[in-house]
Amino acid sequence: MTEPKNSIICPVCGKTAKRLPIHVNPLYRCDECGFLSSDENVVNISYGDPRSASLSNLYPHEFILYGLYPTTNLSEKQITCPSMESFLQGLKIQDKDLQNIFMRNYSGMAAYKMSAILNDWKDSQTLWFNGVPYNRYSDEYTELITKAYDALFETNVIFREIVLPKFKGKILIHTTGKDDRSDTVLTEEEFRYQLNRLMKRL
Ligand SMILES: [Zn+2]
Repeated sequence: MTEPKNSIICPVCGKTAKRLPIHVNPLYRCDECGFLSSDENVVNISYGDPRSASLSNLYPHEFILYGLYPTTNLSEKQITCPSMESFLQGLKIQDKDLQNIFMRNYSGMAAYKMSAILNDWKDSQTLWFNGVPYNRYSDEYTELITKAYDALFETNVIFREIVLPKFKGKILIHTTGKDDRSDTVLTEEEFRYQLNRLMKRL
């Protein structure tokens, strides 16, 4: 995992919440609205923390994406991903057959650990799915990510019925997430948006 940041976007008001240097564990405070990350209502999502690991993209919540392969072969019209990270990292692979193998077979942590050698997309700011290019800043890309999170919600009953309800009403943050869209396939803000959106579907 990367180092905690010096500041995060305040999940309450959208201003900057600064890291307080006196604490070993990352602690953030927003001077604008008083948000404090140590509040018991705040969950800092981390795969290394058993209290929040099950919300991490690295967690092995298997899910099925349907209807994405325009083919007459029914078995190819869906893809089963072992975790969200498998899907997200796989978007960096242009060749659709190699991507398919990657997304179906590489676990969250295995996929995450390949992120550093899958960095070519940053030059073109283009991600790929099933042979179709997606500009990182396009609405179509956001819709693709949204479709994947909806698939996680709809096809993984444990994630939907056990995990998400546990965190309903909590303020979610992810202090190791990146903020720059050109540097990551999913920013902290995009990640929070997707989870908060799914919470509202409960
Ligand atoms: Zn704030």
